[in-house]
Amino acid sequence: MPCIPGDDLNIMAGELSGIALMPKKPSVLMHACCGPCSTSCVERTAEDYALTLYYYNPNITDREEYYLRRDTLLQFLKAFNAEHKDMYTAGFLEGAYEPERFIEKATPLADEPEGGRRCELCFALRLTETARKAKELGMEYFTTTMSVSPHKNYEKIKELGLFLEEETGVKFLDIDFKKKNGFGRSVELSKRYGLYRQNFCGCDFARYANEK
Ligand code: SF4
Repeated sequence: MPCIPGDDLNIMAGELSGIALMPKKPSVLMHACCGPCSTSCVERTAEDYALTLYYYNPNITDREEYYLRRDTLLQFLKAFNAEHKDMYTAGFLEGAYEPERFIEKATPLADEPEGGRRCELCFALRLTETARKAKELGMEYFTTTMSVSPHKNYEKIKELGLFLEEETGVKFLDIDFKKKNGFGRSVELSKRYGLYRQNFCGCDFARYANEK
């Protein structure tokens, strides 16, 4: 179901689905890691771009956690779109949930610290799929909310984004979302919208390392 600005979107969880159709603005497929990180990224870009949030996160190896984060993202988008429906709205698409794909590739790097080679592989898995999907949909840009986290190395994300731009012909929207107090703003907005905020990155490798 396309999300068209001004439509009564009927966006209960699981029903907000489709591509943002705002032809006068450049289209962006924004990979979304979770609801809290998406808040300030959407707020910062929705006025200038036709955003579609793409939830593709095979790294969230716990199924319950995966759906909890997805539904939190939908909760945010529903509230954001209701608030801004006369000006702009953001669409939503969900990718395949395929944790086995992540586990197979990441298990040899299980002991890597957060921010190490396992995370680089994880960024690559998610951003490659986002660029591929953006190309399939004929979008002009792709990007990711991952950079809002102070734990994520933007230079690595940017390097990968520019590589994928070359590969796919879809432009990488080069914004480090942690800048201009992006992370602090995401904390504020998460509180304001009453969003669940997780206390671990996503994979069980990081979760159990934190519990040691
Ligand atoms: S710690 Fe986070 S970024 Fe690193 S591999 Fe796990 S889910 Fe991916």
